[in-house]
Amino acid sequence: MRIGYGFDSHEFRPGIPLKIGGIVLPHDKGLGGHSDGDVLLHAITDALLGAVAAPDIGALFPPSDPKWKGADSVIFLREALKRVQDAGYRVANVDSSLILAAPKIGPHSAVIRARVAELLGLHINCVGLKAKTPEGLNLDNAALAHVVVLLERAPQKKKKARKKK
Ligand code: MG
Repeated sequence: MRIGYGFDSHEFRPGIPLKIGGIVLPHDKGLGGHSDGDVLLHAITDALLGAVAAPDIGALFPPSDPKWKGADSVIFLREALKRVQDAGYRVANVDSSLILAAPKIGPHSAVIRARVAELLGLHINCVGLKAKTPEGLNLDNAALAHVVVLLERAPQKKKKARKKK
């Protein structure tokens, strides 16, 4: 088994959509960043990459590369998942904490968990999501995400049957 940990933070900016866990949430501000600023998918991506000791999200998708401007963070997650699979593992479960002052995540928690589960090929019961406000941190204009993932060995693929001579 392998464990992976990921962290990310993004600053709120007015006038852009708020995307968290691949879902657009109703809010008057979004998360700035070179890609779509999806703080949760970025932290999950880094947790997956870390679990197989792959290069991190910034190394694979450098913000200096214009190719990733406004990119859908699902692309990053899929690449990380591919690296997990190539290393012979599959995701067992994911747990996450989001820290943000607003909007309230509770009403959207199930849909975010369902989307993350779908992206990772997991049952929704294998995706944990907690939301906290940044009390005492003076970080009301930022969103932070912490994620841990557990990987287990994927079952070996059956070898192709040898042709009879
Ligand atoms: Mg990020």
